[in-house]
Amino acid sequence: MLQDKIKQLFHQQLDDWPLAKKGYQALQEVRVKTFDMGVCVFKVQYNPARAVSSLAKLDEASIRTRACFLCAQNRPIEQSSIDFKGKYDILVNPFPICDMHFTIASKIHVPQLIKGRIQDMLDLAEAMPEFIILYNGPKAGASAPDHFHFQAGNVDFFQQPVDCLKQDLVEKYVFRSTNKLVVESNFHDLYLQLQADEQEPMMNLFCQYKPDGWVLTVYPRKLHRPKQYFAEGIEKLMVSPGAIDMTGILIVAREEDFEKISKADIEDIFNQVS
Ligand SMILES: [Zn+2]
Repeated sequence: MLQDKIKQLFHQQLDDWPLAKKGYQALQEVRVKTFDMGVCVFKVQYNPARAVSSLAKLDEASIRTRACFLCAQNRPIEQSSIDFKGKYDILVNPFPICDMHFTIASKIHVPQLIKGRIQDMLDLAEAMPEFIILYNGPKAGASAPDHFHFQAGNVDFFQQPVDCLKQDLVEKYVFRSTNKLVVESNFHDLYLQLQADEQEPMMNLFCQYKPDGWVLTVYPRKLHRPKQYFAEGIEKLMVSPGAIDMTGILIVAREEDFEKISKADIEDIFNQVS
């Protein structure tokens, strides 16, 4: 089964790739604060290794001039992969948030756009049911908007089911079916409904294969980085929400932000981005 091969890859990479080993060791030491937000709980995870993503420059010029870290020729020599459908390479993410965190990169360097890829997302979810597949839109948290990729994280990392509708701080749509085509068609309808002038509606997606079928959760986004990200001095909070943050696990890469972030900040941030 593909899932067993993927887990094997994970353990192998921790043995023979020092950067990955270090990344997952550091994850053991992350600090967590919990905020009771009424109907749901929000966690804030202080994860310094994520600075690479939270602080990433995402403007077009910066993206154009850096070597793409998802292209096979630029990957670290130790990084191994597993093929999926002849279209994707499944890779261990050396800067994890989840206990087992993978990047599923397109074999070719094409922009991060979900159109025509929902089938692949559903197939991935089915092939690895202990994991949840996620997608960050090009302007909604993707750190490589120029190279198509999904991610996968172990399901038990998520503190509350991603498809739980009780989380009223964020807007989300949940589609469930035993029929892949139904999920795909539901998504397509929503996509058209949300479509603005942008290349694609800003959103984060999660897909999971459960005993009773597929579940696709869509978080529409208004904004990627809240105003606190760009503020100076005491107002500044370096938070850059991607898909995982939307589920109630806010990642901060700077200790000072972890110390000072409040419940009111969290409410304000999600009011801006969701
Ligand atoms: Zn690339």
